[in-house]
Amino acid sequence: MSLGLYIHIPFCRSRCPYCDFAFVVRQTHLAKRYTNAVVHELQTQINAFDTNTTFDTLYFGGGTPSHMPPQYIEQILNAVQKHASLSSNAEITVEANPGDQSHFSTLKKTGVNRLSLGIQALTDRALKALGRFHNTEDALDAFKAARATGFTNIGIDLIFGAPKQTQEEWTTILKEAVTLNAEHISVYGLTIEPDTNFDKRAKKQQLPLPTETLQSNMFLRTIDHLTAAHYEHYEISNFAQPNFASQHNQSYWEGKPYLGVGLSAHSFINNKRIWNVNDLQTYMQSVENTGLAVASSETIDANKHLLEKIMLGIRRKKGLDIDFLEQHTPTQLQHLLNHNLLENHQNRIRLTRKGLLIADAVCTELVKDL
Ligand code: SF4
Repeated sequence: MSLGLYIHIPFCRSRCPYCDFAFVVRQTHLAKRYTNAVVHELQTQINAFDTNTTFDTLYFGGGTPSHMPPQYIEQILNAVQKHASLSSNAEITVEANPGDQSHFSTLKKTGVNRLSLGIQALTDRALKALGRFHNTEDALDAFKAARATGFTNIGIDLIFGAPKQTQEEWTTILKEAVTLNAEHISVYGLTIEPDTNFDKRAKKQQLPLPTETLQSNMFLRTIDHLTAAHYEHYEISNFAQPNFASQHNQSYWEGKPYLGVGLSAHSFINNKRIWNVNDLQTYMQSVENTGLAVASSETIDANKHLLEKIMLGIRRKKGLDIDFLEQHTPTQLQHLLNHNLLENHQNRIRLTRKGLLIADAVCTELVKDL
């Protein structure tokens, strides 16, 4: 069996006010125990498969994997190679934050071949407004350190729509980002997730976010600026230089199977989606006792699978085959084509520029009758 592998590392230096991921702060003293639990869970999961499990991609996400002492990443990598096999050209990504540069060299030697740097912005004002612990200089230093260490595949993450952000500031950030010449750039609009610090501030009218129109204009500016700099806009939020699209994320969008290990990690195997508990102590105790820490699961029946295939596929630049959509959702397809939210490009259906701005609504509309 060939699949992708996701390993969740929950440790973070500090709490970002917009974040609702599964993370813990000031808990790295638990890294050894957590790593042992991850290895134990990995072994249990792999033993449940056939004997020929090969992972094509390996992605350490978080949290902040680079914040954990890198010997634990090495321990997990060794366990993957011991209990399964990694393709010889497997993409091995570690998410990293500025400030963790001292770990880059060990990560590289361990076999990590892709870094995904959580830069988020490149002005001190925007970084402060986002509640990040690093400044612009730290971000640039981290990028330079990654290059100097020998990483030839570096992704950076950026967030637009920070409190009080102007189009001018966002353009400055884009220009600065392009000068880095990163192989991959992910760009997300700031979203206010329930129960985060930003959510509380927003409810008290204390979060001066850019208007929706301004945020839309920032997104369009992003597309124009990065495509002019020869990045391919291959998925709504993702831009890459030729041959540097994220292989791991592409496998999610293509509906391929993957195994997720660690706190709150999700797996999709044999038409089942399975997810782990999201409390750190519960996770470690459960794995120590049983080898697993499953919270729940759902069966993805044929209709749900079709729905997900359409919703994920339409977010990609290459879109979906017209015959496939005409077979399953002809009325909604025609309706969205008529409203210039989708377009037919060489018999592939994809979002228009107008559609990109309301992509979630377009996706929902497209699968309405399924
Ligand atoms: S570093 Fe990343 S995972 Fe950690 S709190 Fe900030 S946004 Fe969330």
